[in-house]
Amino acid sequence: GRASYGLRISRLGLCGSDFALIFGDPSFTRMSAPVSSGKGMPLHTKILIGLVVGAVLGLLFHSFAPQNLNDAVNRYVAYPIGQVFFRMLYMVVMPLVFASIALGVAGLGDLKAAGRVGSKSLAYFFATTFVAAALGLMMVNLIEPGNHLDTAVRDGLIQEYAGEAATKVEASQRATESFGIETIVNIVTRNPIKSAADGDMLGVIFFGLMFGIALTMLAREKAAPMIQWLDALNEVVVKIVELAMRIAPYGVAALIFGVTSKFGFGLMQTLGLYVVTVLGALLLHTLLTIPAILRFIVGMNPVTFFSRIRSSIITAFSTSSSAATLPTNLAVAEQNLGIPPQIGGFVLPLGSTMCMNGTAIFEGITVLFLAQLFDVDLSLGQQIIVVVMSVLTAVGAAGVPGGSIPLLVGIMTMFGIPGEAIGIVLGVDRILDMSRTTVNVIGDLSATAFVGKSEGVWTPAMLPSQDLVPADEDL
Ligand code: ASP
Repeated sequence: GRASYGLRISRLGLCGSDFALIFGDPSFTRMSAPVSSGKGMPLHTKILIGLVVGAVLGLLFHSFAPQNLNDAVNRYVAYPIGQVFFRMLYMVVMPLVFASIALGVAGLGDLKAAGRVGSKSLAYFFATTFVAAALGLMMVNLIEPGNHLDTAVRDGLIQEYAGEAATKVEASQRATESFGIETIVNIVTRNPIKSAADGDMLGVIFFGLMFGIALTMLAREKAAPMIQWLDALNEVVVKIVELAMRIAPYGVAALIFGVTSKFGFGLMQTLGLYVVTVLGALLLHTLLTIPAILRFIVGMNPVTFFSRIRSSIITAFSTSSSAATLPTNLAVAEQNLGIPPQIGGFVLPLGSTMCMNGTAIFEGITVLFLAQLFDVDLSLGQQIIVVVMSVLTAVGAAGVPGGSIPLLVGIMTMFGIPGEAIGIVLGVDRILDMSRTTVNVIGDLSATAFVGKSEGVWTPAMLPSQDLVPADEDL
């Protein structure tokens, strides 16, 4: 049977009383639809099974299925299912960014509070990303993967991926050409609808910020209906995400199948040391840096943290996109960690495009790996510049699959590494992308916990007694 838990923390839950106070309307503390727990297997277990089944099937297809069968299954089964799942999440990202930033600012109450939360978030993003990039650089200097690869293999790879590399180089030129004062001015969007259509998250964030600030400056009876409307928009989006999560077990399986069925073990072996360096550094960051922050600064048990956020981890790993994981993140922060929505709704959208610990690790290592491979000697000073550039480009990269690659090419050319050399790593990039995106998203959620704690509106003691995301419903 269905037992229902009416205890889902409402989106305005902890700040609902504030709204009620400000606007004198108790309906701001609203109840959401109850989340029910169905019979049978919990959804997150199903998603995990989907992950394993998709990966194993893909590997089997890669090794045993004839090429045309493999292609057909990819094209007619894995691709459509994976894309439908991905797009279900992705289509709500822009409305969600707008609504949660605007509500976040309105919930914080005034410009000063928003400024404080914003600066704390940025400080956290930059500090952790810097530590991450430095960690990556240490690892690549220790392991030196680039000095253990044949130049013949190197040239072969460059040739094989020449076409794909060329488009990345082109994208890099476009990205770096416009880097300058315009980059900052462009954050102030000319047209928020166009920004949303173009996937320009910063433009939408800026519009949401202005919208929220303006809301706090209105008389309460003027602001109230708009806040209610934004709140309802948020609710609708969360429902769409819940629907998307129902197909997650299949979507995740399909996305992973798409990777492993095309995946050459040969390439994994050739680039093994490089892949190990990247994955090793990502793992170190996840197992040392983040737990240290959680334990000593946030005061939370890291094991509890990771177990509460596993829906986000699996979504990030399978979609390779921080942006597509944002809806899940918002729900997880609020419902599984109990973090007040005005904090999560503000920090997480910013983090999904600006806080990329994993990407910085990957970029630093890749630049140095390729430098080693092409006998480009980088002095300590230059390596520090690599770290700084990795941080800046990680902050600037879009949270979409492969979002950092064009910026990475930009750093490479800065140090005299041919842009085409990106071809060497493109063959293994998907698996690295999945892994670094997971670390990016863990960073976003840890930032939210950090800000919530330091603002004094949340403590680890406020964890809900059980996970509510994903909703354990029978399908
Ligand atoms: N896929 C990454 C993300 O969404 C960005 C990147 O490093 O390519 O977080």
